Amino acid sequence: MKERLVGRFAPSPSGYMHLGNLLAMLLAWLDVRAQNGRLIFRMEDLDPARCRPEYAAALADDLRWLGLDWDEGWPDPAYAQSNRRLLYRDAFEILRARGLVYPCWCSRARRLAAASAPHPGEMSADQGCRCYALSEAERAERMAAGQVPAWKLRVPDEEVTIPDGHYGTIVQNLARDCGDFIVRRRDGVYAYQLAVVTDDLLMGVNRVVRGRDLLSSAPRQAWLFRQLGGKVPSYCHAPLLTSGEGEGKLSKRLGSLSTQVLRRERTPEAVVGQLAFLCGLRDRDEPARPAELLSDFSWDRVRREDAAVTEPLP
Ligand code: GLU
Repeated sequence: MKERLVGRFAPSPSGYMHLGNLLAMLLAWLDVRAQNGRLIFRMEDLDPARCRPEYAAALADDLRWLGLDWDEGWPDPAYAQSNRRLLYRDAFEILRARGLVYPCWCSRARRLAAASAPHPGEMSADQGCRCYALSEAERAERMAAGQVPAWKLRVPDEEVTIPDGHYGTIVQNLARDCGDFIVRRRDGVYAYQLAVVTDDLLMGVNRVVRGRDLLSSAPRQAWLFRQLGGKVPSYCHAPLLTSGEGEGKLSKRLGSLSTQVLRRERTPEAVVGQLAFLCGLRDRDEPARPAELLSDFSWDRVRREDAAVTEPLP
């Protein structure tokens, strides 16, 4: 019997969502609902410095407003990453017991970046770190001197192949293309890569739909799944929306086309219709409800190129 699909929404409440986030959410919803699967809503509020409860509440409200429902998750506190730290610690200890992590005393900036999902341009291999080569005695000396380290995962010089449902086969040599990466920051916050894999594993997620800015994280996540004894989910990454103003990918940092503005000026049907048009599911920009897109939903009709939002704000 075919395994029931379990997908998830996994936004980070580090700002108000924008049209690009909504597209990823809509496609995750259509993907799971079209296959009669189960949808989990996980709040990725891992980084206390960047996430705020008011954004979390707004995210949930935005999804409801758009007409996207879920079967389990938020606001159940068990689905907020900030309440799941002990689970990440357990996963970290498994990796540590297997000799896969090592302490790293490199710069603060590098360590801080680790808790958030990487954005394009932040993916380069971590060159210049020599911490792996430190002897046990040198490590012990730093520890004894009270220098608190971050912890990094040692990745193998090995190719990992991911069949992405939308972008085809992705091959990455972990050592060369990604490099060792942080799984626990110096301040004790577990990093995005570890948290997301631990959660997907424990929540039984077998389908991951999200923006293609995280495509290059998929091979290292697949590898982590295997190290933690889990089955790798199937991946389907979605095109991004870019700003017609030439600012690149829409982002919370730009604040452009945020749900704050959209919800004031537009109906949910207008927004869903625009998203369907932008990603190729509809030929015209006409109002639609998510359920109306279900009957003929197919990834074959979703474009692979990113789409520019050229329309001026209404
Ligand atoms: N929380 C991540 C983000 O908002 C997404 C995590 C994921 O889908 O794997 O960028």
